[in-house]
Amino acid sequence: MSTEPLDMDVDPKAYVALQSLVDEPAADQYLTERERAVRTHTRDVVAREVAPRAHEIDANHTFPHDNIQALAREKLCGLIFPERLGGTDDSNVAYAVAMEEISAGCAATSLVFMTQMHAAYPILHTGSEALANRYIPGLLDGSRYGSLGITEPGAGSDASSLATTATPTDDGWSISGQKTFITTGDRADVIICFATVDRSKGRDGISAFVVDGDAPGVGHGQPFHKLGMHGSSTAEVFFDGVTVPTSSLLGEEGAGWSVLMSSVVKSRISAAAQGVGLARSAYVRTLAALTRHFGPRLPDEHTFALADLRGRILQGRLLLQSVARQVDTNPDVTPGQIGLMKQCCTDLGFHAAVEATRILGPMGDLSVLGVERCLRDAKVTQIYDGTNEIQRLLIGRETTRALKELR
Ligand SMILES: Cc1cc2nc3c(=O)[nH]c(=O)nc-3n(C[C@H](O)[C@H](O)[C@H](O)COP(=O)(O)OP(=O)(O)OC[C@H]3O[C@@H](n4cnc5c(N)ncnc54)[C@H](O)[C@@H]3O)c2cc1C
Repeated sequence: MSTEPLDMDVDPKAYVALQSLVDEPAADQYLTERERAVRTHTRDVVAREVAPRAHEIDANHTFPHDNIQALAREKLCGLIFPERLGGTDDSNVAYAVAMEEISAGCAATSLVFMTQMHAAYPILHTGSEALANRYIPGLLDGSRYGSLGITEPGAGSDASSLATTATPTDDGWSISGQKTFITTGDRADVIICFATVDRSKGRDGISAFVVDGDAPGVGHGQPFHKLGMHGSSTAEVFFDGVTVPTSSLLGEEGAGWSVLMSSVVKSRISAAAQGVGLARSAYVRTLAALTRHFGPRLPDEHTFALADLRGRILQGRLLLQSVARQVDTNPDVTPGQIGLMKQCCTDLGFHAAVEATRILGPMGDLSVLGVERCLRDAKVTQIYDGTNEIQRLLIGRETTRALKELR
């Protein structure tokens, strides 16, 4: 097999043509015209601006600033935000569709892209109009980077035990503590910081604040070295007596847990879309490499393996889009339903990348084909935004509750 770069990595037309082979009428029938247009537009931008830089971003651990700027210029960073703040007022389904496209082109870019939304959404959802006007437009136009700060050295899966404290002052709050594994944490201009006002109250003691990344007392750590998602920086963030005004509180005092819960609905859609996008990328890259070697008629064993993958990608996409539609139409979607989507779609991404590597044999190990990048990038989607064990726990709890109600 050839060890040259695939055509799709150097020619945007070839990229678009190959990606469209995995468009499935069975899923497309549920998309609105606008959602299909968002997909076409995003794929075009990804083919021209995002995918061509993916290999270099991964190899050199380059922060995907140029890719984020391109996506922002094309009005794709504000899909679920109102027009008055610079968004396009689109559905969560449109967002999921765009995330799948960006993840297929460059997963590290998709991680920074989604984190911009994760930082802006709590402000939209629970902040004042003044806070929204001050922070959201810059996150959507790419002039500011944002982070969502939940995880701490002693609190991640059990976020209710976080130890960062917010102490009332005469005119606001003083925040002290440490966050870790924070995406874009090394350079965030805007940080959504979850802190406890009263640890004895557990989750009822948590409040959420918007903090300027350059406020006195905020410290940004160096990016960690990671298995995948090399272009996205992951770092510690320190708060040493950081004073913020009363107006930076998101929602009521002690309402941080509900801010967090509404945030993870969005972030789990993001992670699930990454899973589907990475699965598609692994599939398309494998198909392109095999076709270059064998021509369009592939040996049966490859045809069978690819048919299995294609079916699973369709299943994942249907699940992703239907749960995103539920979020658009039904505010009562449960953590277990969100968890099913997150777990199944991110497991799909990792499974597809492993399977693509198996199909390609030693060629799957070569960075030039980009399949090993899919494998490395897919692993962490099963870990962040709530590990897949935590998702299974949430699903199991709902099953137990339903069983109890049967009795
Ligand atoms: C690349 C990257 C980017 C990230 N970005 C962000 C970010 O932007 N913002 C942010 O706040 N966080 C971020 N995180 C943190 C991430 O969300 C957490 O690491 C994750 O939720 C796991 O939490 P933890 O670190 O406490 O792990 P732990 O809870 O210590 O998990 C260790 C293992 O124990 C398992 N486990 C834990 N509890 C249970 C249980 N009750 N039952 C069964 N198994 C259990 C876990 O599934 C896992 O396998 C990021 C992490 C990574 C790696």
